[in-house]
Amino acid sequence: MTNSSNHKIQHYINGRLTETAGGSQQAVFNPATGEVSAHVVLASDADVQAVVAAAKAAAPAWADTAPLKRARILFKFKDLLEKHHDDLAAAITREHGKVFSDAKGEVTRGIEVVEFACGVPQLLKTQFTDNIGGGIDNWNLRQPLGVTVGITPFNFPFMVPMWMAPVALATGNTFILKPSERDPSPSLMVAELLKQAGLPDGVFNVLQGDKQAVDGLLQHPDVKAVSFVGSTPIAEYIYTSGAARKGPYPLRVQALGGAKNHLVVMPDANLEQAVDALIGAAYGSAGERCMAISVAVAVGSVADKLVEALIPRVKSLKVKNGMEADAEMGPVVSAAHKAKIEAYIEAGVQSGAKLLVDGRNLTVDGHSKGFFLGGCLFDSVTPEMTIYKEEIFGPVLCVVRVPDFAAALELINGHEFGNGVALFTSDGNTAREFSRRVEVGMIGINVPIPVPMAWHSFGGWKRSMFGDTHAYGEEGIKFYTRYKSIMQRWPESISKGAEFTMPTSK
Ligand code: NAD
Repeated sequence: MTNSSNHKIQHYINGRLTETAGGSQQAVFNPATGEVSAHVVLASDADVQAVVAAAKAAAPAWADTAPLKRARILFKFKDLLEKHHDDLAAAITREHGKVFSDAKGEVTRGIEVVEFACGVPQLLKTQFTDNIGGGIDNWNLRQPLGVTVGITPFNFPFMVPMWMAPVALATGNTFILKPSERDPSPSLMVAELLKQAGLPDGVFNVLQGDKQAVDGLLQHPDVKAVSFVGSTPIAEYIYTSGAARKGPYPLRVQALGGAKNHLVVMPDANLEQAVDALIGAAYGSAGERCMAISVAVAVGSVADKLVEALIPRVKSLKVKNGMEADAEMGPVVSAAHKAKIEAYIEAGVQSGAKLLVDGRNLTVDGHSKGFFLGGCLFDSVTPEMTIYKEEIFGPVLCVVRVPDFAAALELINGHEFGNGVALFTSDGNTAREFSRRVEVGMIGINVPIPVPMAWHSFGGWKRSMFGDTHAYGEEGIKFYTRYKSIMQRWPESISKGAEFTMPTSK
Protein backbone atom coordinates (compact mmCIF):
# COMPACT_ATOMS: atom_id res chain seq x y z
CA MET A 1 0.00 0.00 0.00
CA THR A 2 1.55 3.28 -1.10
CA ASN A 3 1.11 6.70 0.47
CA SER A 4 2.17 8.63 -2.58
CA SER A 5 -0.25 11.28 -3.81
CA ASN A 6 0.28 9.83 -7.30
CA HIS A 7 -1.21 6.53 -6.18
CA LYS A 8 -4.47 5.81 -7.97
CA ILE A 9 -7.23 3.83 -6.25
CA GLN A 10 -9.06 1.89 -8.94
CA HIS A 11 -12.14 -0.27 -9.39
CA TYR A 12 -11.94 -4.02 -8.87
CA ILE A 13 -13.96 -5.77 -11.54
CA ASN A 14 -13.98 -9.45 -12.43
CA GLY A 15 -11.01 -10.30 -10.24
CA ARG A 16 -8.65 -7.49 -11.22
CA LEU A 17 -7.91 -3.82 -10.68
CA THR A 18 -9.54 -1.84 -13.46
CA GLU A 19 -8.92 1.69 -14.72
CA THR A 20 -11.98 3.87 -15.21
CA ALA A 21 -13.50 4.10 -18.68
CA GLY A 22 -13.75 7.86 -18.93
CA GLY A 23 -14.62 8.72 -15.31
CA SER A 24 -12.94 11.49 -13.33
CA GLN A 25 -10.85 11.36 -10.13
CA GLN A 26 -11.00 12.77 -6.64
CA ALA A 27 -8.29 13.39 -4.02
CA VAL A 28 -8.13 11.18 -0.93
CA PHE A 29 -6.65 12.84 2.16
CA ASN A 30 -4.80 11.75 5.26
CA PRO A 31 -6.89 13.71 7.78
CA ALA A 32 -4.08 13.82 10.37
CA THR A 33 -1.68 15.64 8.04
CA GLY A 34 -4.20 17.30 5.76
CA GLU A 35 -2.18 16.03 2.78
CA VAL A 36 -3.41 14.22 -0.33
CA SER A 37 -2.44 10.55 -0.02
CA ALA A 38 -3.92 9.22 -3.28
CA HIS A 39 -6.57 9.81 -5.92
CA VAL A 40 -9.65 7.64 -6.33
CA VAL A 41 -11.29 7.07 -9.70
CA LEU A 42 -14.99 7.91 -9.96
CA ALA A 43 -17.09 5.57 -12.07
CA SER A 44 -18.49 6.55 -15.44
CA ASP A 45 -21.69 4.98 -16.82
CA ALA A 46 -19.50 2.59 -18.83
CA ASP A 47 -17.85 1.41 -15.57
CA VAL A 48 -21.30 0.75 -14.08
CA GLN A 49 -22.22 -1.37 -17.12
CA ALA A 50 -18.93 -3.29 -16.88
CA VAL A 51 -19.22 -4.09 -13.18
CA VAL A 52 -22.86 -5.20 -13.36
CA ALA A 53 -22.08 -7.36 -16.40
CA ALA A 54 -19.23 -9.07 -14.49
CA ALA A 55 -21.39 -9.68 -11.41
CA LYS A 56 -24.25 -10.96 -13.55
CA ALA A 57 -22.02 -13.37 -15.47
CA ALA A 58 -20.63 -14.81 -12.23
CA ALA A 59 -24.02 -15.15 -10.53
CA PRO A 60 -25.40 -18.51 -11.84
CA ALA A 61 -22.30 -20.60 -10.99
CA TRP A 62 -21.96 -18.97 -7.56
CA ALA A 63 -25.65 -19.51 -6.77
CA ASP A 64 -25.18 -23.20 -7.67
CA THR A 65 -22.08 -23.58 -5.49
CA ALA A 66 -22.94 -25.61 -2.39
CA PRO A 67 -23.35 -23.43 0.73
CA LEU A 68 -20.65 -25.46 2.48
CA LYS A 69 -18.16 -24.64 -0.29
CA ARG A 70 -19.09 -20.97 -0.07
CA ALA A 71 -18.57 -21.14 3.69
CA ARG A 72 -15.12 -22.72 3.26
CA ILE A 73 -14.01 -19.74 1.17
CA LEU A 74 -15.32 -17.42 3.87
CA PHE A 75 -13.39 -19.40 6.49
CA LYS A 76 -10.18 -18.79 4.52
CA PHE A 77 -11.14 -15.13 4.12
CA LYS A 78 -11.59 -14.81 7.90
CA ASP A 79 -8.17 -16.34 8.42
CA LEU A 80 -6.60 -13.85 5.99
CA LEU A 81 -8.40 -10.94 7.62
CA GLU A 82 -6.90 -11.95 10.95
CA LYS A 83 -3.43 -12.13 9.41
CA HIS A 84 -3.90 -8.65 7.92
CA HIS A 85 -5.75 -7.16 10.89
CA ASP A 86 -3.14 -4.46 11.54
CA ASP A 87 -2.69 -3.57 7.84
CA LEU A 88 -6.42 -3.05 7.49
CA ALA A 89 -6.57 -0.96 10.66
CA ALA A 90 -3.64 1.17 9.51
CA ALA A 91 -5.35 1.80 6.15
CA ILE A 92 -8.49 2.87 8.00
CA THR A 93 -6.58 5.27 10.25
CA ARG A 94 -4.68 6.69 7.28
CA GLU A 95 -7.80 7.67 5.33
CA HIS A 96 -10.45 8.06 8.04
CA GLY A 97 -8.33 9.45 10.90
CA LYS A 98 -9.73 7.38 13.79
CA VAL A 99 -7.17 6.14 16.31
CA PHE A 100 -5.43 2.87 15.46
CA SER A 101 -6.82 0.90 18.44
CA ASP A 102 -10.35 1.96 17.44
CA ALA A 103 -9.66 0.95 13.82
CA LYS A 104 -8.56 -2.46 15.11
CA GLY A 105 -11.87 -2.73 16.96
CA GLU A 106 -13.67 -1.91 13.70
CA VAL A 107 -11.81 -4.74 11.95
CA THR A 108 -12.74 -7.17 14.74
CA ARG A 109 -16.43 -6.26 14.51
CA GLY A 110 -16.32 -6.79 10.73
CA ILE A 111 -14.62 -10.18 11.09
CA GLU A 112 -17.42 -11.25 13.43
CA VAL A 113 -19.94 -10.98 10.60
CA VAL A 114 -17.68 -13.14 8.43
CA GLU A 115 -17.67 -15.69 11.26
CA PHE A 116 -21.46 -15.55 11.36
CA ALA A 117 -21.69 -16.02 7.59
CA CYS A 118 -19.45 -19.11 7.82
CA GLY A 119 -22.46 -20.81 9.42
CA VAL A 120 -24.49 -20.43 6.24
CA PRO A 121 -25.31 -24.14 5.70
CA GLN A 122 -27.14 -24.07 9.02
CA LEU A 123 -28.62 -20.62 8.40
CA LEU A 124 -30.11 -21.68 5.05
CA LYS A 125 -31.78 -24.75 6.54
CA THR A 126 -35.50 -24.31 6.11
CA GLN A 127 -38.76 -25.96 7.12
CA PHE A 128 -40.15 -29.24 5.82
CA THR A 129 -43.56 -30.77 6.41
CA ASP A 130 -43.72 -34.45 5.66
CA ASN A 131 -47.01 -35.73 4.25
CA ILE A 132 -49.41 -32.82 4.37
CA GLY A 133 -51.88 -35.40 3.00
CA GLY A 134 -52.39 -37.41 -0.17
CA GLY A 135 -48.70 -38.28 -0.45
CA ILE A 136 -47.66 -34.64 -0.73
CA ASP A 137 -44.76 -32.98 1.12
CA ASN A 138 -44.32 -29.22 1.52
CA TRP A 139 -41.08 -27.35 2.18
CA ASN A 140 -39.52 -23.98 1.58
CA LEU A 141 -36.23 -22.65 0.24
CA ARG A 142 -34.43 -19.36 0.55
CA GLN A 143 -32.72 -18.66 -2.78
CA PRO A 144 -30.18 -15.97 -3.76
CA LEU A 145 -31.36 -12.83 -5.55
CA GLY A 146 -28.53 -12.44 -8.10
CA VAL A 147 -26.54 -9.21 -8.38
CA THR A 148 -26.60 -7.24 -5.12
CA VAL A 149 -25.06 -3.87 -4.27
CA GLY A 150 -23.73 -2.28 -1.07
CA ILE A 151 -23.27 1.49 -0.78
CA THR A 152 -21.30 2.44 2.32
CA PRO A 153 -20.35 5.53 4.37
CA PHE A 154 -16.94 6.91 5.25
CA ASN A 155 -17.09 6.29 8.98
CA PHE A 156 -16.64 2.50 8.92
CA PRO A 157 -14.83 1.74 5.65
CA PHE A 158 -14.31 -1.91 6.62
CA MET A 159 -17.00 -2.83 9.15
CA VAL A 160 -20.05 -1.58 7.25
CA PRO A 161 -19.09 -3.36 4.00
CA MET A 162 -18.71 -6.46 6.19
CA TRP A 163 -22.29 -5.99 7.46
CA MET A 164 -23.34 -6.74 3.89
CA ALA A 165 -20.86 -8.63 1.70
CA PRO A 166 -20.24 -11.78 3.80
CA VAL A 167 -23.99 -12.39 4.16
CA ALA A 168 -24.70 -11.63 0.49
CA LEU A 169 -21.89 -13.94 -0.68
CA ALA A 170 -22.66 -16.74 1.77
CA THR A 171 -26.27 -16.86 0.59
CA GLY A 172 -25.16 -17.21 -3.04
CA ASN A 173 -25.39 -13.69 -4.44
CA THR A 174 -22.75 -11.73 -6.29
CA PHE A 175 -21.88 -8.37 -4.78
CA ILE A 176 -20.77 -4.92 -5.92
CA LEU A 177 -19.37 -2.65 -3.20
CA LYS A 178 -19.55 1.10 -3.79
CA PRO A 179 -17.47 2.41 -0.87
CA SER A 180 -17.18 5.99 0.30
CA GLU A 181 -14.93 7.99 -1.98
CA ARG A 182 -13.35 9.56 1.12
CA ASP A 183 -11.67 6.35 2.38
CA PRO A 184 -11.76 3.78 -0.44
CA SER A 185 -8.55 1.76 0.15
CA PRO A 186 -9.86 -0.91 2.58
CA SER A 187 -12.39 -2.00 -0.08
CA LEU A 188 -9.57 -3.08 -2.40
CA MET A 189 -7.78 -4.92 0.41
CA VAL A 190 -11.01 -6.87 1.00
CA ALA A 191 -11.25 -7.70 -2.73
CA GLU A 192 -7.66 -8.93 -2.81
CA LEU A 193 -8.09 -11.11 0.31
CA LEU A 194 -11.33 -12.64 -1.01
CA LYS A 195 -9.51 -13.57 -4.21
CA GLN A 196 -6.68 -15.14 -2.20
CA ALA A 197 -9.32 -17.08 -0.24
CA GLY A 198 -10.51 -18.64 -3.50
CA LEU A 199 -13.55 -16.55 -4.39
CA PRO A 200 -14.24 -16.85 -8.15
CA ASP A 201 -13.74 -13.73 -10.26
CA GLY A 202 -16.78 -11.49 -10.63
CA VAL A 203 -18.44 -12.63 -7.39
CA PHE A 204 -17.14 -9.65 -5.38
CA ASN A 205 -16.44 -6.36 -7.16
CA VAL A 206 -15.64 -2.81 -6.12
CA LEU A 207 -16.93 0.19 -8.01
CA GLN A 208 -15.37 3.46 -6.84
CA GLY A 209 -17.44 6.55 -7.33
CA ASP A 210 -19.94 9.15 -6.26
CA LYS A 211 -23.59 9.95 -7.04
CA GLN A 212 -23.18 8.98 -10.70
CA ALA A 213 -22.06 5.47 -9.71
CA VAL A 214 -24.87 5.14 -7.17
CA ASP A 215 -27.56 6.31 -9.60
CA GLY A 216 -26.25 4.00 -12.32
CA LEU A 217 -26.38 0.99 -9.99
CA LEU A 218 -29.82 1.90 -8.64
CA GLN A 219 -31.35 2.14 -12.09
CA HIS A 220 -29.65 -0.92 -13.59
CA PRO A 221 -32.29 -3.61 -14.26
CA ASP A 222 -29.87 -6.45 -13.44
CA VAL A 223 -29.32 -5.19 -9.88
CA LYS A 224 -31.75 -7.01 -7.59
CA ALA A 225 -31.02 -5.54 -4.16
CA VAL A 226 -29.30 -2.50 -2.69
CA SER A 227 -28.14 -2.20 0.88
CA PHE A 228 -27.25 1.37 1.83
CA VAL A 229 -25.72 2.87 4.95
CA GLY A 230 -25.14 6.64 5.21
CA SER A 231 -26.87 9.90 6.01
CA THR A 232 -30.66 10.15 6.22
CA PRO A 233 -31.26 12.41 3.18
CA ILE A 234 -29.33 10.02 0.93
CA ALA A 235 -30.92 6.95 2.57
CA GLU A 236 -34.36 8.35 1.82
CA TYR A 237 -33.30 9.18 -1.73
CA ILE A 238 -31.97 5.65 -2.28
CA TYR A 239 -35.11 4.09 -0.82
CA THR A 240 -37.55 6.15 -2.87
CA SER A 241 -35.51 5.90 -6.11
CA GLY A 242 -35.27 2.14 -5.61
CA ALA A 243 -39.02 1.85 -5.11
CA ALA A 244 -39.64 3.99 -8.19
CA ARG A 245 -37.26 2.06 -10.46
CA LYS A 246 -38.87 1.13 -13.74
CA GLY A 247 -38.58 -2.48 -14.84
CA PRO A 248 -40.14 -5.89 -14.53
CA TYR A 249 -39.14 -6.48 -10.89
CA PRO A 250 -39.05 -4.14 -7.91
CA LEU A 251 -35.64 -3.41 -6.41
CA ARG A 252 -35.21 -4.66 -2.85
CA VAL A 253 -33.73 -1.85 -0.71
CA GLN A 254 -32.65 -1.46 2.89
CA ALA A 255 -31.32 2.03 3.70
CA LEU A 256 -29.85 2.81 7.10
CA GLY A 257 -29.57 6.52 7.85
CA GLY A 258 -28.37 9.03 10.38
CA ALA A 259 -28.83 9.33 14.10
CA LYS A 260 -29.02 11.45 17.23
CA ASN A 261 -28.40 9.07 20.09
CA HIS A 262 -29.32 9.96 23.66
CA LEU A 263 -27.80 8.63 26.88
CA VAL A 264 -30.11 9.12 29.86
CA VAL A 265 -28.47 9.49 33.27
CA MET A 266 -30.92 8.75 36.08
CA PRO A 267 -30.28 10.16 39.58
CA ASP A 268 -29.66 6.60 40.82
CA ALA A 269 -27.02 5.83 38.15
CA ASN A 270 -23.40 5.13 39.03
CA LEU A 271 -22.12 8.58 38.04
CA GLU A 272 -18.52 7.53 37.46
CA GLN A 273 -19.59 4.79 35.06
CA ALA A 274 -22.02 7.11 33.28
CA VAL A 275 -19.29 9.74 32.78
CA ASP A 276 -16.82 7.14 31.44
CA ALA A 277 -19.52 5.89 29.08
CA LEU A 278 -20.34 9.40 27.85
CA ILE A 279 -16.71 10.32 27.23
CA GLY A 280 -16.02 7.17 25.20
CA ALA A 281 -19.30 7.18 23.30
CA ALA A 282 -19.39 10.91 22.51
CA TYR A 283 -15.74 11.51 21.62
CA GLY A 284 -14.49 8.10 20.43
CA SER A 285 -13.85 8.23 16.68
CA ALA A 286 -14.33 12.03 17.03
CA GLY A 287 -18.08 11.44 17.29
CA GLU A 288 -18.18 10.09 13.73
CA ARG A 289 -20.16 6.96 14.60
CA CYS A 290 -23.82 6.40 13.83
CA MET A 291 -24.07 4.98 17.37
CA ALA A 292 -22.11 7.84 18.97
CA ILE A 293 -23.87 9.47 21.90
CA SER A 294 -24.45 13.12 21.06
CA VAL A 295 -27.04 13.99 23.73
CA ALA A 296 -26.70 13.42 27.48
CA VAL A 297 -30.12 13.60 29.10
CA ALA A 298 -29.56 14.59 32.72
CA VAL A 299 -32.55 13.67 34.87
CA GLY A 300 -33.40 15.79 37.91
CA SER A 301 -30.76 16.29 40.58
CA VAL A 302 -27.96 14.57 38.65
CA ALA A 303 -27.44 17.43 36.15
CA ASP A 304 -24.99 19.70 37.99
CA LYS A 305 -22.85 16.79 39.21
CA LEU A 306 -22.78 15.27 35.73
CA VAL A 307 -21.71 18.48 34.01
CA GLU A 308 -19.02 19.19 36.64
CA ALA A 309 -17.60 15.70 36.14
CA LEU A 310 -17.66 15.95 32.34
CA ILE A 311 -15.87 19.31 31.94
CA PRO A 312 -12.34 18.26 33.03
CA ARG A 313 -12.61 14.98 31.12
CA VAL A 314 -13.53 16.72 27.85
CA LYS A 315 -10.77 19.31 28.34
CA SER A 316 -8.13 16.61 28.88
CA LEU A 317 -8.94 14.41 25.86
CA LYS A 318 -5.74 13.39 24.06
CA VAL A 319 -6.39 14.58 20.51
CA LYS A 320 -3.57 13.43 18.23
CA ASN A 321 -2.58 11.66 15.05
CA GLY A 322 -4.45 8.36 15.41
CA MET A 323 -1.25 6.34 14.90
CA GLU A 324 0.22 7.66 18.18
CA ALA A 325 -0.07 5.06 20.90
CA ASP A 326 -1.81 7.21 23.53
CA ALA A 327 -4.19 9.05 21.16
CA GLU A 328 -7.82 9.01 22.35
CA MET A 329 -9.30 11.00 19.49
CA GLY A 330 -8.01 11.65 15.98
CA PRO A 331 -8.96 14.29 13.41
CA VAL A 332 -12.33 14.48 11.66
CA VAL A 333 -12.48 13.13 8.13
CA SER A 334 -12.10 16.27 5.98
CA ALA A 335 -11.65 20.02 6.02
CA ALA A 336 -15.22 20.43 4.74
CA HIS A 337 -16.61 18.24 7.53
CA LYS A 338 -14.60 20.19 10.12
CA ALA A 339 -16.08 23.45 8.80
CA LYS A 340 -19.59 21.96 8.97
CA ILE A 341 -19.12 20.93 12.60
CA GLU A 342 -17.73 24.39 13.47
CA ALA A 343 -20.81 25.97 11.90
CA TYR A 344 -23.03 23.82 14.15
CA ILE A 345 -21.01 24.89 17.20
CA GLU A 346 -21.47 28.55 16.26
CA ALA A 347 -25.21 27.97 15.73
CA GLY A 348 -25.39 26.42 19.20
CA VAL A 349 -23.72 29.45 20.76
CA GLN A 350 -26.03 31.82 18.85
CA SER A 351 -29.12 29.93 19.98
CA GLY A 352 -28.22 30.38 23.65
CA ALA A 353 -26.75 26.99 24.61
CA LYS A 354 -23.81 27.24 27.05
CA LEU A 355 -20.55 26.15 25.42
CA LEU A 356 -18.68 24.87 28.49
CA VAL A 357 -15.76 23.39 26.53
CA ASP A 358 -14.84 24.85 23.15
CA GLY A 359 -12.68 22.56 21.02
CA ARG A 360 -12.36 24.97 18.11
CA ASN A 361 -8.90 26.42 17.35
CA LEU A 362 -7.14 23.35 18.70
CA THR A 363 -3.59 22.93 17.46
CA VAL A 364 -1.82 19.57 17.37
CA ASP A 365 2.00 19.69 17.38
CA GLY A 366 3.47 18.88 14.00
CA HIS A 367 0.03 18.62 12.38
CA SER A 368 -0.89 22.19 11.61
CA LYS A 369 -2.75 21.21 8.43
CA GLY A 370 -4.62 18.25 9.97
CA PHE A 371 -8.42 18.36 10.33
CA PHE A 372 -8.41 18.45 14.13
CA LEU A 373 -11.11 19.64 16.50
CA GLY A 374 -11.07 19.31 20.28
CA GLY A 375 -13.98 17.92 22.26
CA CYS A 376 -16.90 20.34 22.73
CA LEU A 377 -19.47 20.30 25.53
CA PHE A 378 -22.75 22.21 25.52
CA ASP A 379 -25.07 22.58 28.52
CA SER A 380 -28.67 23.89 28.67
CA VAL A 381 -29.50 22.61 25.20
CA THR A 382 -33.23 22.61 24.39
CA PRO A 383 -35.23 20.59 21.84
CA GLU A 384 -35.85 23.52 19.45
CA MET A 385 -32.12 24.15 18.90
CA THR A 386 -30.49 23.00 15.65
CA ILE A 387 -27.64 21.39 17.62
CA TYR A 388 -30.26 19.17 19.27
CA LYS A 389 -32.39 18.44 16.21
CA GLU A 390 -29.71 17.69 13.62
CA GLU A 391 -26.94 15.12 13.43
CA ILE A 392 -23.60 16.92 13.86
CA PHE A 393 -21.38 13.84 13.45
CA GLY A 394 -18.46 15.37 15.34
CA PRO A 395 -16.98 15.55 18.87
CA VAL A 396 -19.84 17.62 20.29
CA LEU A 397 -21.89 16.51 23.30
CA CYS A 398 -25.11 18.35 24.21
CA VAL A 399 -26.50 18.15 27.74
CA VAL A 400 -30.30 18.45 27.94
CA ARG A 401 -31.75 18.79 31.46
CA VAL A 402 -35.14 17.19 32.15
CA PRO A 403 -37.09 16.95 35.42
CA ASP A 404 -37.95 13.24 35.44
CA PHE A 405 -37.99 9.87 33.65
CA ALA A 406 -41.24 10.59 31.80
CA ALA A 407 -39.79 13.80 30.35
CA ALA A 408 -36.65 11.93 29.23
CA LEU A 409 -38.76 9.35 27.42
CA GLU A 410 -40.96 12.00 25.81
CA LEU A 411 -37.89 13.90 24.61
CA ILE A 412 -36.34 10.84 22.96
CA ASN A 413 -39.59 9.64 21.42
CA GLY A 414 -40.17 13.11 19.97
CA HIS A 415 -36.92 13.05 18.02
CA GLU A 416 -37.05 12.21 14.30
CA PHE A 417 -34.16 9.73 14.61
CA GLY A 418 -34.32 6.41 16.46
CA ASN A 419 -31.04 4.61 15.91
CA GLY A 420 -29.50 3.89 19.34
CA VAL A 421 -30.13 4.96 22.92
CA ALA A 422 -28.71 4.21 26.36
CA LEU A 423 -30.03 4.42 29.91
CA PHE A 424 -27.83 4.47 32.99
CA THR A 425 -29.68 3.48 36.15
CA SER A 426 -29.46 1.05 39.07
CA ASP A 427 -33.20 0.33 39.03
CA GLY A 428 -34.39 -2.74 37.12
CA ASN A 429 -37.94 -1.58 36.72
CA THR A 430 -36.89 1.79 35.25
CA ALA A 431 -34.69 -0.12 32.80
CA ARG A 432 -37.50 -2.47 31.84
CA GLU A 433 -40.03 0.33 31.31
CA PHE A 434 -37.50 2.26 29.25
CA SER A 435 -36.64 -0.71 26.99
CA ARG A 436 -40.31 -1.39 26.33
CA ARG A 437 -41.49 2.19 25.74
CA VAL A 438 -38.63 3.90 23.93
CA GLU A 439 -39.09 4.25 20.15
CA VAL A 440 -35.54 3.39 19.13
CA GLY A 441 -34.10 0.37 17.35
CA MET A 442 -31.09 -0.45 19.57
CA ILE A 443 -31.13 -0.04 23.34
CA GLY A 444 -28.30 -0.15 25.88
CA ILE A 445 -28.97 -0.51 29.60
CA ASN A 446 -25.79 0.65 31.33
CA VAL A 447 -24.14 -0.02 27.94
CA PRO A 448 -23.33 3.13 25.93
CA ILE A 449 -22.95 1.80 22.36
CA PRO A 450 -25.25 -1.21 21.97
CA VAL A 451 -24.18 -2.32 18.48
CA PRO A 452 -25.79 -5.79 18.17
CA MET A 453 -23.51 -8.79 17.76
CA ALA A 454 -23.17 -10.40 14.33
CA TRP A 455 -25.84 -13.04 15.00
CA HIS A 456 -28.39 -10.41 16.06
CA SER A 457 -29.25 -7.61 13.61
CA PHE A 458 -28.47 -3.88 13.31
CA GLY A 459 -30.92 -1.11 12.48
CA GLY A 460 -32.75 1.92 13.77
CA TRP A 461 -36.34 3.09 13.80
CA LYS A 462 -38.06 6.19 12.40
CA ARG A 463 -35.83 8.25 10.07
CA SER A 464 -32.77 6.18 10.97
CA MET A 465 -33.82 3.33 8.68
CA PHE A 466 -35.91 2.94 5.52
CA GLY A 467 -36.98 -0.61 4.71
CA ASP A 468 -38.14 -3.55 6.78
CA THR A 469 -35.15 -5.79 7.37
CA HIS A 470 -32.25 -4.82 9.59
CA ALA A 471 -28.64 -5.50 8.60
CA TYR A 472 -26.73 -8.79 9.13
CA GLY A 473 -27.77 -11.60 11.47
CA GLU A 474 -30.89 -13.52 10.50
CA GLU A 475 -32.51 -10.35 9.14
CA GLY A 476 -29.55 -10.11 6.75
CA ILE A 477 -30.08 -13.69 5.58
CA LYS A 478 -33.69 -12.78 4.82
CA PHE A 479 -32.72 -9.61 2.99
CA TYR A 480 -30.34 -11.44 0.65
CA THR A 481 -32.64 -14.37 -0.14
CA ARG A 482 -36.06 -14.95 -1.64
CA TYR A 483 -38.58 -17.31 -0.11
CA LYS A 484 -39.97 -20.14 -2.21
CA SER A 485 -42.48 -22.81 -1.16
CA ILE A 486 -42.48 -26.22 -2.85
CA MET A 487 -45.17 -28.94 -2.78
CA GLN A 488 -44.38 -32.28 -4.30
CA ARG A 489 -46.03 -35.63 -4.93
CA TRP A 490 -44.72 -38.59 -6.94
CA PRO A 491 -46.40 -40.42 -9.88
CA GLU A 492 -48.20 -43.29 -8.16
CA SER A 493 -50.46 -40.85 -6.35
CA ILE A 494 -51.09 -38.53 -9.30
CA SER A 495 -53.92 -40.12 -11.31
CA LYS A 496 -56.85 -39.25 -9.11
CA GLY A 497 -58.73 -36.99 -11.51
CA ALA A 498 -58.93 -33.22 -11.55
CA GLU A 499 -59.87 -31.37 -8.35
CA PHE A 500 -61.80 -28.12 -8.66
CA THR A 501 -61.94 -27.11 -5.02
CA MET A 502 -59.18 -25.25 -3.20
CA PRO A 503 -56.61 -27.88 -2.11
CA THR A 504 -56.85 -28.62 1.61
CA SER A 505 -55.01 -31.08 3.81
CA LYS A 506 -56.68 -34.48 3.67
P1 NAD B 1 -23.27 9.94 2.98
O1 NAD B 1 -24.74 9.76 3.00
O2 NAD B 1 -22.72 11.26 2.56
O3 NAD B 1 -22.59 8.86 1.98
C1 NAD B 1 -22.92 7.50 2.04
C2 NAD B 1 -22.73 6.90 0.65
O4 NAD B 1 -23.63 7.52 -0.25
C3 NAD B 1 -21.33 7.07 0.08
O5 NAD B 1 -20.94 5.88 -0.55
C4 NAD B 1 -21.49 8.21 -0.91
O6 NAD B 1 -20.62 8.12 -1.99
C5 NAD B 1 -22.93 8.07 -1.36
N1 NAD B 1 -23.55 9.36 -1.71
C6 NAD B 1 -23.24 10.57 -1.17
N2 NAD B 1 -24.01 11.52 -1.72
C7 NAD B 1 -24.84 10.90 -2.60
C8 NAD B 1 -25.87 11.37 -3.47
N3 NAD B 1 -26.22 12.66 -3.54
N4 NAD B 1 -26.51 10.46 -4.21
C9 NAD B 1 -26.18 9.16 -4.16
N5 NAD B 1 -25.20 8.67 -3.36
C10 NAD B 1 -24.54 9.53 -2.58
O7 NAD B 1 -22.73 9.51 4.42
P2 NAD B 1 -21.28 9.67 5.02
O8 NAD B 1 -21.00 11.11 5.29
O9 NAD B 1 -20.29 8.92 4.19
O10 NAD B 1 -21.43 8.87 6.39
C11 NAD B 1 -21.91 9.44 7.56
C12 NAD B 1 -23.40 9.22 7.71
O11 NAD B 1 -23.68 7.82 7.69
C13 NAD B 1 -23.95 9.72 9.03
O12 NAD B 1 -25.19 10.32 8.80
C14 NAD B 1 -24.10 8.46 9.86
O13 NAD B 1 -25.07 8.53 10.88
C15 NAD B 1 -24.50 7.49 8.81
N6 NAD B 1 -24.27 6.12 9.23
C16 NAD B 1 -25.34 5.38 9.57
C17 NAD B 1 -25.17 4.09 10.00
C18 NAD B 1 -26.33 3.25 10.39
O14 NAD B 1 -26.16 2.06 10.55
N7 NAD B 1 -27.52 3.77 10.56
C19 NAD B 1 -23.88 3.54 10.08
C20 NAD B 1 -22.79 4.34 9.70
C21 NAD B 1 -23.02 5.63 9.27
